[in-house]
Amino acid sequence: MQKYPLYLLFFCASWMTISCQNKKTENKTDKVKEAMETKQNKSEEEWKKTLTPEQYYVLREKGTERPHTGEYNLKFDKGIYTCAGCGSELFTSDQKFESHCGWPSFDNEIGEGSKIKKIKDFSHGMIRTEIVCANCGGHLGHLFDDGPTKSGLRYCVNSLSLQFKNDTTKVK
Ligand SMILES: [Zn+2]
Repeated sequence: MQKYPLYLLFFCASWMTISCQNKKTENKTDKVKEAMETKQNKSEEEWKKTLTPEQYYVLREKGTERPHTGEYNLKFDKGIYTCAGCGSELFTSDQKFESHCGWPSFDNEIGEGSKIKKIKDFSHGMIRTEIVCANCGGHLGHLFDDGPTKSGLRYCVNSLSLQFKNDTTKVK
């Protein structure tokens, strides 16, 4: 004991306690971060980093792309349409039809309601049904009940909210 003055021991002990606590806090932060990422509960700053400004405007600010300008408006290749925000599978190419409205249109969705949330939207002096990705909350477009096919539904979706995947395993 005489070799090591008491204050040195005290210093070492406090330093160890502090570094231990830091480690605990770090682990906790990592866990919270992980949980947030799986739920896609990202901060707006994080969304800005992962999305293009156009995608951010539509998905996070509920914007609408100009009609007849979207990448997928006239696309009818076989595949899957996923959410551009989180990759959740939303529509198949079998559900897509030409509605002549200027936006990609679908008459049904993958997952029987589990993938897409419907919210009453009273903006712009209209009563509409907004559709959002159930996983990440990204704005997709609107749902109308004037579809020409058997379902009677028309999911009017922004191309910017979607990502086409050349996956034919789920397509007829
Ligand atoms: Zn999503």
